[in-house]
Amino acid sequence: MSKIYINYGSDAQAMTRALMDHADIASMLNPGTKVVIKPNLVVSRTADDGATTHPEIVEGIVAYLQAHDIHDITIAEGAWVGEGSTSRAFKKCGYYDIGKKYGVDVIDTKNDRAVDRPFRDMSLRLCETPLNADFLINVPVLKGHCQTNMTCCLKNLKGCIPDSEKRRYHSLGLDKPIAALGTVLRPHLHIIDSICGDLTFEEGGNPVESNRIMLGFDPVLLDSYGARLMGYRPDEIGHLRLAQQYGAGEFVDDATEIIEMNAENKPKTAPVRSSIVKRLASYIDEDSACSACYANLVFALNNTNRKPTEKLKIGQGWRGKQCEGMGIGNCVSGCSRHVRGCPPTAVDIIDFLEE
Ligand code: SF4
Repeated sequence: MSKIYINYGSDAQAMTRALMDHADIASMLNPGTKVVIKPNLVVSRTADDGATTHPEIVEGIVAYLQAHDIHDITIAEGAWVGEGSTSRAFKKCGYYDIGKKYGVDVIDTKNDRAVDRPFRDMSLRLCETPLNADFLINVPVLKGHCQTNMTCCLKNLKGCIPDSEKRRYHSLGLDKPIAALGTVLRPHLHIIDSICGDLTFEEGGNPVESNRIMLGFDPVLLDSYGARLMGYRPDEIGHLRLAQQYGAGEFVDDATEIIEMNAENKPKTAPVRSSIVKRLASYIDEDSACSACYANLVFALNNTNRKPTEKLKIGQGWRGKQCEGMGIGNCVSGCSRHVRGCPPTAVDIIDFLEE
């Protein structure tokens, strides 16, 4: 299905329901269908900061499903590793309120049972709830990421794996396991929150208004379209390139049908991605760093005038190694000096840099 549905506007709940109606999602379901909805709640920040899925979109999905007599609905997500608390994010972002209002379960995948699935030369551990859904709806935010440049449908599926696996993905270089995950775990539907994603940082803080929600069925098609919106060529995004090679989907091309609704509400200027992360990365010597750790370091570097005179080491690849210089996080305890924490907070890193 080489189609992308896009609705522009400011009423996210109504826009979502209209998109689902237009794509006739109800015809794919029956009253016994077990639906799991996977938003992005990587951090405990409200959606207007540009990091998390607007609850109005998920509410629109639930309302649409219930209006079509689908009642076995679960919202499932796991926040990022380290200090990420899913329950805090659920509360802060209004997801427990949705659960109560509509009588749907809201579960933390960090507490889910995990099962193994083989893929080529890899074995992937997946959380059971999303894996066992009859109809999995992925609801990512289109936004930037300081290691993978962008995150959307494919990378959002990291919330469907245990924390130990999230760390392991970083030690495997992110691109390959993300692409493998998107090939093994295949949501039936993707609804993308592109209302105001932060085009620089995964954890938000610099939202860019786009007033857009997108719907589709192929994660590679949607992500490649999103990459182009952000100013990247799809083949510049490592996990996207690999996912296409693995058969998870196809890149957007001239044959892709773009079906727009309310096009008069389209943003007048195309958002421009920031070069901040690229510039700050020149201060970093990274080897398999977890996202939370790396993002805190980038955030710290962006918020201090005391830039280091040598590269800062960070990541699991430095574990057990003795080295000169400064490092960030427990993994680099073999450095002459390092900031403790797993991950260390941005504030601790700033204090360290400013000492
Ligand atoms: S200290 Fe190491 S394991 Fe802990 S978050 Fe940072 S990179 Fe990951």
